[in-house]
Amino acid sequence: MVGGFVAPKRVLMGPGPSDVHARVLAAASQGTIGHLDPEFVRLMDEIKLLLRATFRTENDLTFAISAPGSIGMETSVINLVEPGDTIIVCVNGVFGGRICSMAERAGAKVVKVNTPWGRAVDPADVEAALKANPGTRVVAFVQAETSTGALSDAKTIAAIARAHGALSLCDAVTSLAGVPLEVDAWGIDATYSATQKCLSAPPGLSPVTYSAAAVERLKTRNSPVVSWFQDLALVMSYWGSGGNATARRTYHHTAPVNALFGLHEALRMLHEEGLEASWARHARVHALLAEGLEDLGFRYVVPQGERLPQLNSVWIPEGVDDAAGRGQLLNDHGVEIGAGLGDFAGKVWRIGLMGQSCSERHVELLLNALAKVSGRSRSTSRLLEATA
Ligand SMILES: *Cc1c(COP(=O)(O)O)cnc(C)c1O
Repeated sequence: MVGGFVAPKRVLMGPGPSDVHARVLAAASQGTIGHLDPEFVRLMDEIKLLLRATFRTENDLTFAISAPGSIGMETSVINLVEPGDTIIVCVNGVFGGRICSMAERAGAKVVKVNTPWGRAVDPADVEAALKANPGTRVVAFVQAETSTGALSDAKTIAAIARAHGALSLCDAVTSLAGVPLEVDAWGIDATYSATQKCLSAPPGLSPVTYSAAAVERLKTRNSPVVSWFQDLALVMSYWGSGGNATARRTYHHTAPVNALFGLHEALRMLHEEGLEASWARHARVHALLAEGLEDLGFRYVVPQGERLPQLNSVWIPEGVDDAAGRGQLLNDHGVEIGAGLGDFAGKVWRIGLMGQSCSERHVELLLNALAKVSGRSRSTSRLLEATA
């Protein structure tokens, strides 16, 4: 027999998962109950209310898909497009590229709006693509591109899509709770996120929300959604819709009951702090980290003004080995940071300040560890700068 698994103690400062609070772990470790137990249905209704408050929406169709963020992405894509539909996808990193792959598999005509990695999407490029492709069904974009650390202007992109009669699809996996996102005020039609980034719940759930226009699109499809599990029309019968919380729920699949216990508590903690206070904390702690990183000689990938507070991409300093450096951080200091993805592999480190991992204490710990790993001293480099 193999021994029991003992998880090492880690400080999670990568691109997700983020640290999970003891209160959330305690909630998730309660005894499992049935996925149709009236008490569980009540919990689901509370999660829907908490998610609406988090997405800042009144959308009826708001719930958590029983799968990670990538399934939230794929569910959104395959429900909103049909074979032959045109979808414009903004690509400024790995996740925009992933949306393209999913849309291509769904038989859509994909028009890419390419932006150099590390930069925000230019809304003027989206406008030009819409003008060049009349009848476009959906405009998809990633508000917080976790592979690069760039923040795009979701409000403006959604407004441009609407002006051209297209639905907007926003990847809010890393943005939700870390930077402002106003689903209703900005008129975003479809939004998906994940639990393990700024919500600081264990991975494996994808909160989503769809506007009335998106739901209308589902009803007017000519072809069925090819995935049974991801067909939103079917899963609605389990999560309940039509604003009737007491409607009879029917079995669709067995929800990950304990994971939802955890999400409920994580959302309660978020709203105890306040959503706006959470945005402000991410901005404040990011400024502290940026100052410390620059003091150590690290350079940011993303220009100021386009940076995400919750995901800080920096060039790996010359003379520092990527894998060895990250290994040293993990093994000697217990701190996990992220490697570069795609074009940035081996060149960039990604430092997350997400949810519970976004505190002054985390910044202090990381800066001290990075000083050791990069062979620089925090006070010395400050001194050098002062005398330069
Ligand atoms: C993490 C992430 C995803 C994918 O989420 P998973 O839970 O890993 O499937 C999608 N988009 C963005 C922007 C992400 O950061």
